[in-house]
Amino acid sequence: MQSSDRLYRLTIEQAHKLLIKKEISSVELTKAVLERISQVEEKVHAFVTVTKESALSQAEEADKCLKSGDASPLTGIPALIKDNMCTRGIRTTCSSHMLEKFVPPYNATVVERLNQAGMVMIGKGNMDEFAMGSSNEHSAFFATHNPWDLERVPGGSSGGPAASVAANEAIYSLGSDTGGSIRQPASFCGIVGMKPTYGRVSRFGLIAFASSLDQIGPMTKDITDCALVLNAIAGHDPKDATSVNQPVPDYTKALIPDLKGIKLGVPKEYFVEGMEDGVRKTIEAAISRLEQLGASVDREVSLPSTKYALPVYYIIAPSEAMANLARYDGVKYGYSHEGANMWDSMEQTRGHGFGPEVKRRIILGTYALSAGYYDAYYFKAQKVRTLIRREFDEAFKQYDALITPTSPTVPFKIGEKTGDPLKMYLSDICTLPINIAGIPGLSIPAGFCDGLPTGMQILGKPFSEETLLRVAYAYEQSTEWHKQRPKL
Ligand code: GLN
Repeated sequence: MQSSDRLYRLTIEQAHKLLIKKEISSVELTKAVLERISQVEEKVHAFVTVTKESALSQAEEADKCLKSGDASPLTGIPALIKDNMCTRGIRTTCSSHMLEKFVPPYNATVVERLNQAGMVMIGKGNMDEFAMGSSNEHSAFFATHNPWDLERVPGGSSGGPAASVAANEAIYSLGSDTGGSIRQPASFCGIVGMKPTYGRVSRFGLIAFASSLDQIGPMTKDITDCALVLNAIAGHDPKDATSVNQPVPDYTKALIPDLKGIKLGVPKEYFVEGMEDGVRKTIEAAISRLEQLGASVDREVSLPSTKYALPVYYIIAPSEAMANLARYDGVKYGYSHEGANMWDSMEQTRGHGFGPEVKRRIILGTYALSAGYYDAYYFKAQKVRTLIRREFDEAFKQYDALITPTSPTVPFKIGEKTGDPLKMYLSDICTLPINIAGIPGLSIPAGFCDGLPTGMQILGKPFSEETLLRVAYAYEQSTEWHKQRPKL
């Protein structure tokens, strides 16, 4: 019998074993996680909403399924969902005043799938407003703190989902990633985060930021858990026309602790100027480890268009965002501000409802799409996007996967970059190209620099999630990084 105050430390795989052996119940596990939240949440601030009542009733239902032998690997396991995924009857805010009181009448497909798999949803995770940001400081409500050092950011925009898993306030979480928002906070918080191939997971019910880049993915304590969550959420959805109709393999079958025959490439452009020395050393050591595990490594790969990824992203993402956010007009749903007339009311609604970073993106996107500028900016960015994608296609003819750092730095101090948007944008330099190309990317804990977590990023061709998981699993099994948890 496990001591109940420790249950929150379990991974999905460990908890599942105890649940099916009836050594613990889902209600006990859920209570242990709720107790943990009440102990540490005032330091971490990962949750916009804690759904205690509904979590406990979901746990009771899960216990019934477990009793009758009708359980999936996720049945009865407490999870946190980023607050930009719609949850029926439960407030979904996008950490914005615009949606502060919005209660969706339907579930996102991922939520529906996890419900079918027996999820216990413990709450909704804090984020940068409308997923725009890299530090969680753009949440309209409060900033989430990094559990490894409470004076530092957890990364963003899925900072709440990342911090909650690192702090043992959830066994796993779901994040969304438009330019790095799953992988960079996973790296900053010392957990696993995967952005699947564009189209692998349904975006139905995910509140849109930049529709050609957004993708939902798992944030977990280890690689086995990542495979288990991906198994549950991946697959075609008739409600999302961009979801791809391709069979979903059992991702746990890819978890083989050996890399014989695997060819890896290391693109030099990802070791950018301004990268911290400690991060470089950590990633180099991790690459050597992959070699010892049997992979062949080419350290001389070049992807010369990488330098265009940041400017391309900051044209395409704001352009799509400005179109997506046009719907918040105070008429249909969300925040509404009385004005002198219809136009005044719309202006006041948008003026008060959106925070400064969201407004910055709307202005950038409006500019890039204006008559006369469309060809010069948006159309050109789309062409360069194709170049970036082709370079990846070429590289994946030679290599099974590419290895890079997830972020050029360890987590920075709260407030360090808020005064300088460009500096903030640079934190995603290693993750943005992956969304531009639509390929899958995974961040895995690769060690610590001065006590702060560092992530290694693994990239593959479209729908090669199994390869990424295999490389990551072999690495993970040969290290102890993923077993470390912050002391709170
Ligand atoms: N930090 C990037 C941005 O602010 C990426 C955000 C994301 O992936 N949602 O746009």
